[in-house]
Amino acid sequence: MEDLLIDRASSAKSVLLSDPGHSRYRRQLLLKGIGPEGQEKLRRATVLVAGVGGLGGAVALYLAAGVGRLVLVHAGPIDLPDLNRQILMTDAGIGRSRVHVARETLHRFNPEVRVDVVDDRSHEGNISDLLQEADLSVSCRYNFEERDLLNRASVTSGKPVVEAAMYGMEFYLTTLIPGATPCLRCIYPEFPSWDPLGFPVLGAVSGTLGCLAAAEAVKLITGMGQPLRGTLLYGDLSDMTFRKFRVKRQPGCFVCGDGDGI
Ligand SMILES: [Zn+2]
Repeated sequence: MEDLLIDRASSAKSVLLSDPGHSRYRRQLLLKGIGPEGQEKLRRATVLVAGVGGLGGAVALYLAAGVGRLVLVHAGPIDLPDLNRQILMTDAGIGRSRVHVARETLHRFNPEVRVDVVDDRSHEGNISDLLQEADLSVSCRYNFEERDLLNRASVTSGKPVVEAAMYGMEFYLTTLIPGATPCLRCIYPEFPSWDPLGFPVLGAVSGTLGCLAAAEAVKLITGMGQPLRGTLLYGDLSDMTFRKFRVKRQPGCFVCGDGDGI
């Protein structure tokens, strides 16, 4: 794994050693479906956050309230136009590695979470190894190519993906569980033509979607509630429209099916 250039955190404390009463998590321990057992599941979990922009940053922040280990994957430094929405970044961090600043912010929020970072995009050469260490991933990249790559690797490895995407005031969210739900290409058999990086984004929308995606991940880890299995949630915050759509697995899907086409 060392050739993946994962910068591994070395000083994350043990939750059980530093906080034997789980007092940091007292309020969520009260939730039906979490409790001490669910909290322990969270502590033992590793979540891969693919993309740590406005959306992935909100996901990471809310998962840092209990998930034991996060792996953040995102290439490049912070730029000024990032700061209308990327809540883990700071003005003083402009020009610095985004994932390293994200780790510093997350450790100020919760020093007990282990945060490993990869200052790179996900690609064919690293995605399988990154997923191997994770229990699940959250897909937050701005381009469909990396989402497709993560979907394929997740189907191969059997790891769930929380799939979250947004444009302007709109978003969609679903949870992909290999063998049990559609994969990304069952839903989008044709490669969509997404705008390049630089599309319109309101921070409140990426933050809203990030919170929803983090909640999906917590449900998957703990077993509480009902994740969006086979259901796609669409939202338009311009008029607060929220709709759910059933999405079906396609037997002919060339990623998770027999490959004969849909
Ligand atoms: Zn499929």
